[in-house]
Amino acid sequence: MRFLSALAALSLTLTGGAVASAPALAGGAPSIGTSATGSGGAVVTVDKTATAAGLEVLRRGGNAVDAAVAAAATLGVTEPFASGIGGGGFFVYYDARKHSVSTIDGRETGPATMTETYFVNPATGLPYAFDEARVSGLSVGVPGTLATWEAAARAWGTRSLSSALRTAADVADRGYTVDAEFRRQVTENAAAFGQFDATKALYLPNGLPPEVGTTIRNPDLANTYRLIAKQGTTAFYQGAIARDLLNTVHAPAVSTSPTTAWAYPIRPGTLTASDLASYRVRTPAPTTSDYRGLTVYGMNTPSSGGTTVGEALNILESSLPASATDLEKVHQYLEASALAFADRGRYIGANTSPDVVKRLLSNEWGAQRACRIDPDKALVKPVAPGDLVAGGCAAPAASVSPDTGMSTTNLTVTDRWGNVVEYTLTLEQFGGNGMVLPGRGFMLNNELTDFNFTGTQGTAADPNLPGPGKRPRSSMSPTIVLKNGQPYLAVGSPGGSTIITTVLEIIYNRVDRGMTLQQAMAAPRGAQRNTAGIQAEPSFHTLYGPELTALGHAFAADAAEIGAATSIEFTGHGSVIAVAEPVRRGGGAAAVVHPAG
Ligand code: GLU
Repeated sequence: MRFLSALAALSLTLTGGAVASAPALAGGAPSIGTSATGSGGAVVTVDKTATAAGLEVLRRGGNAVDAAVAAAATLGVTEPFASGIGGGGFFVYYDARKHSVSTIDGRETGPATMTETYFVNPATGLPYAFDEARVSGLSVGVPGTLATWEAAARAWGTRSLSSALRTAADVADRGYTVDAEFRRQVTENAAAFGQFDATKALYLPNGLPPEVGTTIRNPDLANTYRLIAKQGTTAFYQGAIARDLLNTVHAPAVSTSPTTAWAYPIRPGTLTASDLASYRVRTPAPTTSDYRGLTVYGMNTPSSGGTTVGEALNILESSLPASATDLEKVHQYLEASALAFADRGRYIGANTSPDVVKRLLSNEWGAQRACRIDPDKALVKPVAPGDLVAGGCAAPAASVSPDTGMSTTNLTVTDRWGNVVEYTLTLEQFGGNGMVLPGRGFMLNNELTDFNFTGTQGTAADPNLPGPGKRPRSSMSPTIVLKNGQPYLAVGSPGGSTIITTVLEIIYNRVDRGMTLQQAMAAPRGAQRNTAGIQAEPSFHTLYGPELTALGHAFAADAAEIGAATSIEFTGHGSVIAVAEPVRRGGGAAAVVHPAG
């Protein structure tokens, strides 16, 4: 549980304790735990303050989009390393009145001048080391988060973006309490953060990560939010904030007294005023696939979330016998995931044609790919992608697409009318490129490092190389599942490319392995992303390791934890089960407007 003092501050703010214009809490202090059942709407995020902000909007008659924007704006304050207006994300929306699912692609975009060799050092002809690329002006894409909030609020909301920003600004002024997870995120990034005075001033008091229990206030971010609330998002994309952002990208303000040495030069980037001013969200149709009578809606390209989750489910639908034991189910989940990841690496990027997306999500393709699964023996990884001409069972040479990053944040919201928002947003790494924009209080993304720096597909084309004005491939997988045309499940998670496996695993656990949603969320996680070894949580490794190893699976080093998901299950007549992580990332925050019982 994080940021109790911020929650108190929000309550104070909302009760008008210190801010004259603030409204009163509509129904007393909210009850927020790691899961909640009830009706009237629900909010699940990783953070109590953000969940409380969203819930308050619902209680006051706002809809799911209003609440999602309020929660996201608050996360930009209290979870500043995983999200914020310096980043981007993907927003999936189910409209209960229209019975339709829409999406907003608020992915960061590269400069119009970006070339395929953008991340290749011209002096050496070699790609930059990841951290060299990350902590630079080069890695910063045009942020899409603010434009996403504005587009969502305009298209489907009933409240202004300004009101959400003003409420979150009050949280930034009052401050929030550092917990162990926050301190961990700073500690892991202390070297990068320590290169920049503005970041040091906020997050490295006395040059060290903040102590648990101390309060962080961010008046610069409060002022930034209020400026945007007043002037509109043009302040960000064309006005004073745009100017500051470009100055920092072009000449990163490297500290003359860094807290520690940094191994690389901190390079400038080439974004231009016109790159910022011309940024627009996209609104692609969601990906859709059928799975055991359910319809799965996901995020289309440039995310690989929708295609990879959908394809893996199709493979499982085709390959898994009704009589499968639980071990067989786990084995097949890992195999289906590896096969879908192989296709992701070969075929998915910002410019993938809709025909290819359709093909990869067809039942026919799933059945063809399933032909490679041996129920008694694990495939040797990496497996090859399927051949779009010869068929999914035929395979060109294998190749692996590397991936890094375990940060990001996610939220799930529904309202009394049955609208649903599933929204994943990020800066890429925790703390993005390490730079707080001086005087503005938010961190810049390093999303462009989600491009492959050089080709990963051997002699075949790599769909995820940099290009002019291109958006890097993502793994973000905000997913809404319908049953008989009505919402059944909404789920999403952070975690780099393990986002895909986490979302897949939760759906699979719930639908195929007979778990409740709480069990499906809590269950040990293992990720097979078409790499030599499974990356697993220690509990997954302990539970299944011996039997999976006997089948021929290999394990890479364990990850302490995978993902930090949020989810809601719809149980009919307006009732929901809202579930956050019970333990991962310090435990999340779920609440419903009218708790059951
Ligand atoms: N940048 C990653 C993506 O878009 C997400 C990073 C993370 O979750 O750690 O796929």
